[in-house]
Amino acid sequence: MTKYISTRGDNRERGAAQAIIQGLAPDKGLFVPAAVPKLECGFAGGAGVSYREVAHSVMGAFLSDFSQEELRACIDGAYDEKFDSPDIAPIVKTERAHFLELYHGRTAAFKDMALSILPYLLKTAMQKENESRKVVILTATSGDTGKAALEGFADVDGTEIFVFYPKDGVSEVQERQMVTQVGGNTHVYSINGNFDDAQTAVKSIFNDRAYGEALEAGGYRLSSANSINIGRLVPQVAYYCFAYARLVERGEIKQGDSINIAVPTGNFGNILAAWYAKEAGLPVARLICASNENRVLTDFMASGVYDANRQFHITSSPSMDILISSNLERLLWHLSGGDSEEIAGYMKRLDAERRYEVSDRVRSGMKEFMWGGCADMASAHDAIGKLWHGERYLMDTHTAVAYSVYQDYREQTGDSTPTVIASTASAYKFADKVAESIGLGKEPNGFAYIDALNKATGTPVPEGLRGLDKKEIRHRGTVSAPEMPDAIRVALSR
Ligand SMILES: *Cc1c(COP(=O)(O)O)cnc(C)c1O
Repeated sequence: MTKYISTRGDNRERGAAQAIIQGLAPDKGLFVPAAVPKLECGFAGGAGVSYREVAHSVMGAFLSDFSQEELRACIDGAYDEKFDSPDIAPIVKTERAHFLELYHGRTAAFKDMALSILPYLLKTAMQKENESRKVVILTATSGDTGKAALEGFADVDGTEIFVFYPKDGVSEVQERQMVTQVGGNTHVYSINGNFDDAQTAVKSIFNDRAYGEALEAGGYRLSSANSINIGRLVPQVAYYCFAYARLVERGEIKQGDSINIAVPTGNFGNILAAWYAKEAGLPVARLICASNENRVLTDFMASGVYDANRQFHITSSPSMDILISSNLERLLWHLSGGDSEEIAGYMKRLDAERRYEVSDRVRSGMKEFMWGGCADMASAHDAIGKLWHGERYLMDTHTAVAYSVYQDYREQTGDSTPTVIASTASAYKFADKVAESIGLGKEPNGFAYIDALNKATGTPVPEGLRGLDKKEIRHRGTVSAPEMPDAIRVALSR
């Protein structure tokens, strides 16, 4: 049985179902598996293994209180024709890397990989735990999580979904995707502030006991669709295992060979999922953690000091414009040997001073498998242009940060281990910057860039991004971070 405990000292063990419903531990910590399960199935899984089969064996190990049938139903419901590729997460080989395309779901970003299954996992968990209250999902978003969560939870019985996004911190296309969301249980607000403000406000709502009790009296309970919810992370472990199986199947590697994985990182969820895959037994040599100008993690890996006291940059990879990477807390906990006192200390300092320094043990533990690097906008845009003109492969601005950092890694280390790049969004989601990067001219708005990019490259526009400018705008609210609790209360009482 895989049990979950808090990173900050609440040692009560919970099953995965409880951890998913609660989202955040009562002591403000994050739920982690007390011991990371070992996957015994062998990662090749035979020729022609399907995404669903890999997901089933990986998720079964982490969510061991779910029955085989329950998991099967969740997986079948999530990974179907909603994805525009039969492989769900196809891999494309270029000269230097293997791009694991995680953006073939409805909202054209990798968040769909987890958020198309989270509603099923949550509903199943609620039934298992006899939870009859309505679940109110709170989500802070830097752009992509919000839309994917809305799509996943829209009109799911027993849930209300709230999304808060930074007004000036998302792309025009991302914003339009969110504000046109249909579904009677969907609520979308822009906030005056950045992603960190939104995420901090969401966390403090969770930690406000009186507020939670008032909601509970009204028949609601709070949960989260952010990657602070372990139900977001576990489905992400599966695609790294799937990628490995496909590479073996195609003869790119032999069973047992090591790979590297490069991940464009923001809140540290995606790369943490890769670490869980490694810890569960996937042969991964190096995790390459790529940041944009908001290079807190790069500096942290070099110095052991996490310092969020710095200028916040708005970049062309907005989903990585983050200074407080929540999921790092989970990795630190594991690397500290489960020392929750140590972790609680770091997080307390982070709250008070926006800065902490980790122990030598944690720092050297991390160095063994992780390499941190950053790429600025000019390098990322340059990489997009070069890869398109050189190999006719189109990548988005986030993926380009990872690809660019990976090139640096390779140059500096000479390591030519086969490398998987987590490709996190369709180029069309950030069409303006991608169009400029491949040398196209100016267009009047984000939607015109989609058409221009399509015309110039002949690559297909994802279904969910077509005709966006003609959809009805249904959400217009703007609040400040301190007004978020009231906005939720008012919307629920309607
Ligand atoms: C969310 C997101 C990221 C960052 O992922 P984390 O799990 O937050 O590190 C990178 N790229 C895109 C396109 C995203 O939507």
